[in-house]
Amino acid sequence: MENKYKEKIYFDSEQERKILSTAIEQSSVVILITDIEGNIIYVNSAFEKITGYSREDAMGKTPRILKSGLTSPEIYEKMWFTISNGGTWNGEQINKRKDGSLYYEDSRITPIYNKEGKLTYYLAVKHDITERKLLETKLKEIAIRDPLTNTYNRWYLMERFHQIIDNYKRVKNPFSLVILDIDFFKEINDSYGHQAGDYILTNFANIVNQNIRSYDIFGRYGGEEFILLLPDTDKENAYILVKRILNIIRNKPFIYEDISIKLTFSSGIIESSEISLDKISMDELIKIADSRLYEAKQTGRNKIVI
Ligand code: GH3
Ligand code: MG
Ligand code: MG
Repeated sequence: MENKYKEKIYFDSEQERKILSTAIEQSSVVILITDIEGNIIYVNSAFEKITGYSREDAMGKTPRILKSGLTSPEIYEKMWFTISNGGTWNGEQINKRKDGSLYYEDSRITPIYNKEGKLTYYLAVKHDITERKLLETKLKEIAIRDPLTNTYNRWYLMERFHQIIDNYKRVKNPFSLVILDIDFFKEINDSYGHQAGDYILTNFANIVNQNIRSYDIFGRYGGEEFILLLPDTDKENAYILVKRILNIIRNKPFIYEDISIKLTFSSGIIESSEISLDKISMDELIKIADSRLYEAKQTGRNKIVI
């Protein structure tokens, strides 16, 4: 079949140059060209728009003007190693605009050779991926949180629990598992309504979160039952921590729409060293902590069994 565009494919070099430079100039992706020392010799208008630097600002400088300090030095090392050896590098960086604000960028940097085969320029093609990255971060956060209490959800608890057990098998530093269950929670729902129950759950979770260490992991296991994973913590110290939280909870009534609601919880604790290394598993630990929780419930509630 005859190609009706055939004739139009062949431009003279001047025409070709004009078409290319217009396309590059008006492209919505950022195009940046440097010499082999990394000095900027060309930026298009998308660069000006995204970074806030004008062409005059950028000319003769290096792309280091965009450095935020938040991209790891290894990434830059790898990039220079790749491109100075003739390879194309692709990666993500956190950069800083002229006004100081940050943005995520996806870059592809390719070495450009002249007719003699000598490395002459580097061509960088970049996209602003800030929106996508922020959305990703937000989605990741949502995926690991319980929507009501904003504590970790069951899935994430289990994920971290596996990690802690694996680590324990290698390092053998004891950790503790705590199960907490609110006492007579059904009565709160029955007396004051489900919304009051939700309010109590959220505030109970906040208090626990405020009283644990940054590396402790607290999450909702189900209903009004929570799990606390305490790395590098023996049972005695776990007890002290939970006792302190129990004292805070039982001494300060929750106020919901002018109603004062008193709350207690019961808890079962197990330390990793109570189970032999070959038998230790998440299920086994939860089973024993659960039986201690049951004992706490059976013997009066408002207490901790270790
Ligand atoms: P115990 O002292 O033995 O733990 O008694 P309890 O009433 O706390 O325990 P039970 O397991 O019988 O009841 C738990 C209640 O928690 C039942 C359920 O309706 C309520 N619940 C579970 N999830 C939610 C929630 O998200 N919001 C509210 N408001 N209530 C919930
Ligand atoms: Mg309960
Ligand atoms: Mg329960």
